[in-house]
Amino acid sequence: MAEQTVAHAIEGLKESNVRITPQRYAILEFLIEHRSHPTADEIFKALESRFPNMSVATIYNNLRKFVEIGIVQEMSYGDAASRFDFGVQKHYHAICTDCGKIEDFFYPGLEDVEMASSELTGYQISEHRLEVYGVCPNCQKKG
Ligand code: ZN
Ligand code: MN
Repeated sequence: MAEQTVAHAIEGLKESNVRITPQRYAILEFLIEHRSHPTADEIFKALESRFPNMSVATIYNNLRKFVEIGIVQEMSYGDAASRFDFGVQKHYHAICTDCGKIEDFFYPGLEDVEMASSELTGYQISEHRLEVYGVCPNCQKKG
């Protein structure tokens, strides 16, 4: 499954004429295998032993490239570091207020909210994001 997804992502890179470097491959592989919505810093810490010459900035630039191509989504939180999410299928997030774990969930798109908010505000809406907050099953067990 992960293999297939990596191959698919690599196709996306080729189509966009983005050179596939070992670093790029490793970053994609990490995003696909962990699905933890990591920050650039977390990816850096996981890969620095394999690529001693790689900097956080390199990781960040590569992630930006993936976002541009459309194979990765950036989740920005104002001042806090962005998190990166592999995949383009629309989904929403449940975030644990204790440990910070982010879980994907799929739910019918809330396009009617976009329409309603557009009518109410006069904004031309381009996208929406839904995050729900609570305590994850693991943290519930810990009490
Ligand atoms: Zn938790
Ligand atoms: Mn996600």
